[in-house]
Amino acid sequence: MKKAELSIKPVPSGDPFLKGTCSICPNVTFVLVGDIAENRQLMQQMFDKHLNEVHGRERQSRRESTKA
Ligand SMILES: [Zn+2]
Repeated sequence: MKKAELSIKPVPSGDPFLKGTCSICPNVTFVLVGDIAENRQLMQQMFDKHLNEVHGRERQSRRESTKA
């Protein structure tokens, strides 16, 4: 199974948007205005939240179900 990772898309010059996506959820996109260090950190936090909400929960429930 593929590991979920944040992938930040390269921004064409002049494009003010910083776009990132989850490597295994192509429909999940994070968009911020401004390709600056703070926004890259913020995007990482948004992705961590997605990881916990979507992938973290999946992993936990699987662990619980193997016990039973
Ligand atoms: Zn994902």
